[in-house]
Amino acid sequence: MRTDATIVAPATPRGESGLAVIRLSGDRAESILRRIFRPARPLDSFESHRLYYGHAVDGSEVVDEVMAVLMRAPKTFTREDVAEIHCHGGPLPVSRIVALCLRQGAVMARPGEFTLRAFLNGRLDLAQAEAVAGIIHARSEAAGRAALGQLEGRLSSRLRVLKKDLVELLAHLETHIDFVEEDIDLPDQDKWCERVAAVRRQVEEIAATYTSGRMLKDGVRVLILGKPNVGKSSLLNCMLGESRAIVSEWAGTTRDTIEENLVLNGFPLRLIDTAGIRQTEDPVEKEGVERARQKIRSADLVLFLVDGSRPIDDDDRLVFDFCPSERTLLVVNKIDLQQSPLPSWLSGLPRVSIGARDHIGIDRLGDALCRLLGDDRGDAGESLLVYESRHYQALLHCSQALDRLLQSLEQGESPEFLAVDLQDALRSLGEITGETTPDDVLDTIFSQFCIGK
Ligand code: GDP
Ligand code: ZN
Repeated sequence: MRTDATIVAPATPRGESGLAVIRLSGDRAESILRRIFRPARPLDSFESHRLYYGHAVDGSEVVDEVMAVLMRAPKTFTREDVAEIHCHGGPLPVSRIVALCLRQGAVMARPGEFTLRAFLNGRLDLAQAEAVAGIIHARSEAAGRAALGQLEGRLSSRLRVLKKDLVELLAHLETHIDFVEEDIDLPDQDKWCERVAAVRRQVEEIAATYTSGRMLKDGVRVLILGKPNVGKSSLLNCMLGESRAIVSEWAGTTRDTIEENLVLNGFPLRLIDTAGIRQTEDPVEKEGVERARQKIRSADLVLFLVDGSRPIDDDDRLVFDFCPSERTLLVVNKIDLQQSPLPSWLSGLPRVSIGARDHIGIDRLGDALCRLLGDDRGDAGESLLVYESRHYQALLHCSQALDRLLQSLEQGESPEFLAVDLQDALRSLGEITGETTPDDVLDTIFSQFCIGK
């Protein structure tokens, strides 16, 4: 990984805006800034962290009226010298100023390279660096709060405490590796069993927050299920407040599934409209039904939609049989029409009535949905929430290693033997914060960032 070059990139998105920011980081940030920025009042040297008014210049030609700031290491995001130029937010001034920097010896930053440097220079640990991406990509306030918690080091500091316990045990083991004669128990074995069990319990607790964390990051997967023509597409459109799915008078139009993201009560949902499920011989439709079946398995919640104006029939029953009983909300549609009584086999489900076509009762539906999601709504509040699958996998791995360690401790295995699982557990925790993360994993993580971050 190159860290000697001075990198440059626009820090704000492409397109037109009031202002745009171009950022430089590296040893040569100051000398490059000096060559392309002409302050309104001549100065001997930049005062660090102070904003100056002046012009971006190409030799004697003025490129734009700008503000510039030089921030000297180490009190910067990357812990290197950083310069920022605030110019007018049009594509032209931005690309011209970036080009000036390149001509003065800067190189174009790769995606995530500023954050990568912050990580490599010890300004952030890996979990915190990932949180930067989490904040940028957050689609709801709750997801943003979770990412911010991680950036503030909530996860990292929790793990640090656990690691400290394990490192102490490792040190303890190592002092005995050379001394313990065969078949002699490790001193304080019971005490260590308890401590390891406590660490494992906490690792599992943290891992368990991933259910909510994942929903928060990727959205709660809500599947709309129902036989053809009950109003699935109408409901989707109505919740989206726009007409994306095709609504039609004929049964069976939505052959494929449609997914849409929206935020409900500050909570991200991924709404999935499926092909209508019914007995069919049409191969295309059959495939749609099969796809719906697969989607059901990965859904967090199913909205089982029926047409309240018609008697519930075998086709509804067929759909009902697809529904996971503990994660299903019965949605009775078309309440604007005369209602037909519901059969008793539907009475066990939580239920709301709506009129999808006329946007009736959608807020009730939203409330019912949130109630059902209950604690899983994943509002991070002050607590810790794991939302990266990478972290979750590492936590699982750690807890398995601790499991093995506990068994070996109980069976009075040798310190050498115990040390293997213990190191494995420590390595897993270290992968989350970046001490033991392989380079290729780092590359993948940082390449997911946008340029300029
Ligand atoms: P899907 O096949 O389940 O996706 O159903 P659609 O959303 O395509 O709707 C089928 C038909 O039912 C359309 O003619 C809609 O206008 C109609 N429809 C949907 N919601 C309502 C409603 O609340 N009341 C009434 N009266 N008709 C509705
Ligand atoms: Zn439809």
